[in-house]
Amino acid sequence: MMKIVIIGGSFAGIQAAIASREYYPTAEIVLLEKQPQIGYIPGSLALLLQGKMTELDQLNWVTAEELIEKYQIDVQCNQQVEALEEENQLRLNTNEIVSFDRLIIATGSGQFSRYDAMNSQEPKSRVLRFKTRSEAQLLLDQLPQADKIAIIGAGQVGLEVAEGLASTGREVHLFESNSQLLFRYLDREMTEPLTEAIQEAGVALYLNCFVQELVESGEAVTLTTADSQEAFDLVLIATSTRPDNSLWENALMLNDDGTILVDRWMQTSRTNVFAVGDAIQVTFRPTGELMYISLVNNALRTAKIAAANLAGPKLADQGTLRTVGNHLFGYYLGSTGLTESEGIFYPSKITSQVQELPVSLLSAEKQRIKLIFDDESRQLLGAQMVSAAPVLEVINRLAEAVRLKQTREMLSQGEAYFHPALNLPEPLFARGEQCHED
Ligand SMILES: Cc1cc2nc3c(=O)[nH]c(=O)nc-3n(C[C@H](O)[C@H](O)[C@H](O)COP(=O)(O)OP(=O)(O)OC[C@H]3O[C@@H](n4cnc5c(N)ncnc54)[C@H](O)[C@@H]3O)c2cc1C
Repeated sequence: MMKIVIIGGSFAGIQAAIASREYYPTAEIVLLEKQPQIGYIPGSLALLLQGKMTELDQLNWVTAEELIEKYQIDVQCNQQVEALEEENQLRLNTNEIVSFDRLIIATGSGQFSRYDAMNSQEPKSRVLRFKTRSEAQLLLDQLPQADKIAIIGAGQVGLEVAEGLASTGREVHLFESNSQLLFRYLDREMTEPLTEAIQEAGVALYLNCFVQELVESGEAVTLTTADSQEAFDLVLIATSTRPDNSLWENALMLNDDGTILVDRWMQTSRTNVFAVGDAIQVTFRPTGELMYISLVNNALRTAKIAAANLAGPKLADQGTLRTVGNHLFGYYLGSTGLTESEGIFYPSKITSQVQELPVSLLSAEKQRIKLIFDDESRQLLGAQMVSAAPVLEVINRLAEAVRLKQTREMLSQGEAYFHPALNLPEPLFARGEQCHED
């Protein structure tokens, strides 16, 4: 009987366990997680602050009980893996040895940042992260004493938590080194409504502003930029997450950015060992480039692929379009595929279109949609949308169009229902040819 061991009980590890059970009904499957629980959803803190839920672990994708009862997974929490030994064995922090026939590493990432090294004295009680449940709880414990809070990073994570904190009436300052919000996903003109809404909500926004130093003393943290020095009650780190794969560096090959090297079958440099999720790089489909892209859709897809290949190569990864959707400060925002600002990494010329259309015949709300095409083949490479109306599903439709390599002409012949209260009498993209081009 094959013994499959999975390390990490978050999105990738849980999905790997479920998919492994489907592929190998008789296998012994063990899931090791160092935290006391599995399946915590990192966005929970923002939802709680926004009043959309009342407890940190209210949201559960899959519980340990379900994994045990429905999928016969041996879920072991509070088990920290310390080393990958020779001969298909793992060593735990208790010195216990766990052997395996196949191993899936799903140890993910953390909100590590340059500021960790800067403030070497522990505990850094007022410079906080919030990806794990215990980190989020620490933040919630400190919140009653904190009126003035700085957030570093205006990506999805920083913006979500900024919205949550602003809604509690606190003074929120948001620092971003880039010249725009959400620069990984959206071109500048698509972020304009959001940028205005943030300021209207009372958040002090500093774009083009690199935080140079954080110094904690007494009850405050002093934050220094090129132009200012200001004290805050709390500073939250919302810069990009990174994996810490130092645990594996003697046993497995790593990439220069610290991710675990895998092939398209999710196999590492060791035959029986696979790695998935935030611990690895994925291929960005529009450019074919390998990149670190921390998203749940990548964690789930790579986990399913690894599980499929445990008994021999079956399924190769086709890569990601980096599709995201969010609701921030009253705006639904979505992105898939190449952005115009990434056009420099695309081998051919691109063209883009921006259309601003009503949502339906009944509604005064508009939706702004940006499409990016290969100039010669007219193939859709990427799309972005922003609207105050809940029309985010369009980004999934566009992601499929990019995945299926649909051209401008194919899009304009797409079929869609019509209802006067819900949409427009012709499919959104039938208008493609009439739009202005940038
Ligand atoms: C605040 C926040 C909000 C986010 N919101 C979204 C969102 O809305 N949508 C989206 O697509 N993405 C979101 N992301 C990104 C998303 O959370 C990650 O892409 C996803 O969690 C990756 O899943 P993973 O299973 O690969 O790794 P992780 O979620 O990082 O999980 C790794 C697991 O491995 C365990 N582990 C690590 N080392 C060991 C060890 N040595 N022994 C045992 N166990 C170990 C960890 O405790 C952890 O449970 C968010 C990220 C953050 C920080």
